[in-house]
Order: sequence, then C-alpha cells, then structure tokens
Amino acid sequence: MMNTKYIFITGGVVSSLGKGIISASLGKLLQARGFKVTIQKFDPYINIDPGTLNPYEHGECYVTADGMETDLDLGHYERFTGIRTTRENSITTGRIYKTVIDRERRGDYLGKTIQVVPHITDEIKRRMLRKDVKGEELDFVITEVGGTIGDIESAPFMEAIRQLRWQLGRDAVCVHLTYVPYLKAAGELKTKPTQHSVKELQGMGIQPDILVLRTERHLDDALRMKVASFCNVDLECVVQSEDLPSIYEVPVNMQRQGLDAAILRKIGIPVGETPAMASWHAFLEKQRNASREVHVALVGKYDLQDAYKSIRESLNLAGIYEDVKVKIHFVGSQGITRENAEEKLAGMAGIVICPGFGQRGIPGKIFAAEYARTHGVPCFGICLGMQMMVIEFARNVLGLADADSSEMNPKTPHNVIDLMEEQKGIIQLGGTMRLGEYPCRLRPGSLAGKAYDGQESVRERHRHRYEFNNRYREDFERAGMQCVGVNPDADLVEIVEIPSLPWYLGTQFHPEYSSTVLHPHPLFMSFIKACIDHGTVEA
Ligand code: GLN
Repeated sequence: MMNTKYIFITGGVVSSLGKGIISASLGKLLQARGFKVTIQKFDPYINIDPGTLNPYEHGECYVTADGMETDLDLGHYERFTGIRTTRENSITTGRIYKTVIDRERRGDYLGKTIQVVPHITDEIKRRMLRKDVKGEELDFVITEVGGTIGDIESAPFMEAIRQLRWQLGRDAVCVHLTYVPYLKAAGELKTKPTQHSVKELQGMGIQPDILVLRTERHLDDALRMKVASFCNVDLECVVQSEDLPSIYEVPVNMQRQGLDAAILRKIGIPVGETPAMASWHAFLEKQRNASREVHVALVGKYDLQDAYKSIRESLNLAGIYEDVKVKIHFVGSQGITRENAEEKLAGMAGIVICPGFGQRGIPGKIFAAEYARTHGVPCFGICLGMQMMVIEFARNVLGLADADSSEMNPKTPHNVIDLMEEQKGIIQLGGTMRLGEYPCRLRPGSLAGKAYDGQESVRERHRHRYEFNNRYREDFERAGMQCVGVNPDADLVEIVEIPSLPWYLGTQFHPEYSSTVLHPHPLFMSFIKACIDHGTVEA
C-alpha cells in the first residue's frame, strides 16, 4: 500500500476564484482513478465554525452527516465526489486555537511558553495529516486553505504547509490557483499578478508544483510558457481554468489538460490510462442538451447566490436528470404580501420556501405558502419553510388565527411550532442545534414514501431548534395535512404533506445537503417532476 499523499491548494491574487470547485474537481479525478480520497477545508477566520455566521458574510452554512456546521465548499466536495465529509473536514483558526488553549489550561504543555510556531503550526499539521474517520489510511488528502496568499491570518497555515512539504518530500504537492486578468483597453492578458502571488508564496518558503490560472479568455502556450519560466514551474504543470457554462464541466476540463496526471507524475505514481468517467459525461451530455426550462421561485431572505447554494444546486441537478434547465427566480420574502403574492409568484412552475432563522421575511414566507396551497402550485418547504407551511395551514385551515412558532412569538397561544424539549435551557448558540443525520420513518403510499421509492426509513441531515408541536398532530391530519415522516425514536415530525394537492410537501430536515451529481436527491427529483407537470417552456 502506498503512503498517503497530500495535496495543498492555496489561492492568490483575489478571492472567489473557485478554489473549492478546483479542489472538488481534483478529488473527483483522483477518485475516478480508483484512489481513496478526502477533501478538507482550513479557514483562517476565528469563528469555531461558520454556524454562527450570517449568510451575507459567508454564504450558506453546510451541514455534514455527523452534525458539523461547515463552509459551503464542503457541499461542492460532496456533490462532486459523493464522499461523506465529517467534522474533521472543516477546520478554522478558531478550532485550532481552542484545541491548543484547552490543552494549555489542562497543563499539557508542562510550563512551556505557547507560541504560534511551533504549537499552533503543530496543531495545524496534525489536522492536515489526518486519516479517514475509521482511522484507515487514505491515498490522497486534499487540503484547501481559505483566503488569499498574503492575508495575515493565513500565515500559520502557510508555515504548516512549508514544514509538511519539507517533511513529506514527494508525498506532498502544492497547487496554487491565481487569476490572469484581461485588460480590455490594452487588449492583453496580464501575468504579473500571478508572478507576484507566486513570489509571495516563495517568500514563505513554498514553491508551487502546479499553477491553475483562472481566466475569462483562453491562454495560449506562449503565455503559459511565460508563467512557467517566471514561476519555476514545468509547462505541463501550468493549467488554465477558463470560465465554463457549468461548474460540473470543470473536472473534465482539468482532466483534458492533465492536471491529475501532472500531480501523479510529481509524486512518482505511474499515470496509467485516463479514466473514462462515463456517468459524469452522461450527466454533462444531459445538461448540455436540456432544451426546456422550468421556472422555480426561491422564496428566501438573502438575495445572494451563495446563501442557498445547496438548494440551488439540488434543483439544478434534479432538473438535468429530467432534461430541463431550472431557472431559479429569487423572490425576497420581505417583499411578499397577501395582495402581491399572485403578481410575484404567478407563472412559476414551483415554489421553494427556504430555511432560515428569525423574524425578517416571515409573513412573506407564510403568504407564499398560502398562495401555493390555494393555487395548487407545487411547493417545497425546507426546515423553516416547512414550519411556515404548518403555520399557514393552522391559521387558514384550522382557523387558529394566532398560530405561530414560539421562535417568532414566544407568547402565542397556538405554538404549532415549538422549541424542542432538548433545546430548552441551551444558552450557547454555536453548534448546539439539532444537527446532522437522524432517521425518519416514512408512511407507505405517501408522496414522500413514493418519492423515496418505497423505502421505509431514510436518514437526513438537520439544523434546527424548533419542531412541529405534536399536540396539534391529530387536528392537522384530520384537516388534510399529513405527518408522513416521523423520527422513530423521538416521535418528531420530519415531513408534512397535503395529499389532496399535486405536490405540497415540507421537510424539517435539509435534503439539499445530500444531493450529489451522480445521485440527485429523490425529493428534489419528485418536486421537479411535479414542476414540469405544472408547466415548462421552450428554452
Ligand atoms: N429557525 C428554525 C428552527 O430553528 C428553522 C431552522 C432552519 O430553517 N434551518 O427550527
């Protein structure tokens, strides 16, 4: 068996270059060669995890099966590779420091002065040299470091990589992602920012082995040669990542340029045949050929691409398998009233009511649920979205005009959504919700049961504090909203649906976290099929 190999991925010049996509693509390519791979993200911020971060700050918070609130890049890793990441795959400076400080308080350092070097860097190295969850060896560990070279806060991570590079020799490879801007006025592509970024990296003692150049225009061989010679990198190790119509084209584009082969050669592993990746190509073929569109409204409060990343991707993926392009229309819930709901939502083939926390935009989510219910529009409520479906039903069908969630109105006489028993008394906000995978028993013959292809029980990921209040369960069922998915151990309602409508379903869990390119989530598939039945248009 070969030693574990380590690939470090850093970024330079500017942020938002898509390091996460490159990391996920590389993971996919190595996996396609039969290697056992994991991908992890090290973020230089001080928060222990992104769970307490506002989506405006950091986009969506992704949740692993074992209940870690993580960076959204882990969503890309899972969607591209199908690998189930864990709490060990998302590390922040905050977590590193917390471990070291806790150890110091216990007296583990025997009176030593605790310093960034070596104590913080040692802890970073320890986590970079991880094994998989069961302690088995991995063939490749890909470590993506958040932020941009030159950030003060990422310096300890760079020092850890420098040391590991020295320690591991050929078993470690450094990939650096930079940007080659095109200056319209000069009509030229500029390599200087890349040269500077590499110099900065070299100044920290790290010589990149591979450069991935993000660009909006094709880079010719002469330009790649210039970068290679200025940066001490082989020509075959200068790869370009041009803008592509879909992020899922990136692995194939990287494979075509030999990114994985170049890495194998650096490490000294025989390259062998290029894997065919037939199912990936079949997926891309479907994506390219989809000729019809289906329009779906995303009712949420963050008008930001990254805020509902996994939901957007899950919708797109399901659409591709049904040969349609899903056109997502963000509809800010704060702007929805009962009067304008029709105007905002008419013409939509489906409505998704998004997860969330707090008061802002709550009435709009309830009006959107009402509109969908009274107009027979397929509607998918996720977490808070499901809770809003429940409140709308209580108010308008059960006649409980002041029904609410005790999150929004702690004094409501009809707390149809209430704080979970186990949540009472919790004061700390970070990492204390009901998080990660729990089982859900499905009612046979229900919409959900059929969507999951007749499975009796499934496991889905959660991130919430409030739940459906079981005191009202019978009233709901009698009036036509069925609780068709229930946690068998805690009796918590996990799925509600209205069988008399074409497709009206809410989940307390987050199905979007477990939809992948090769295995789109069954509930999203079922929802998209219903949207298509409701109406598609020529692309
Ligand atoms: N705020 C709700 C709760 O805590 C829903 C959370 C969510 O949508 N993720 O239960």
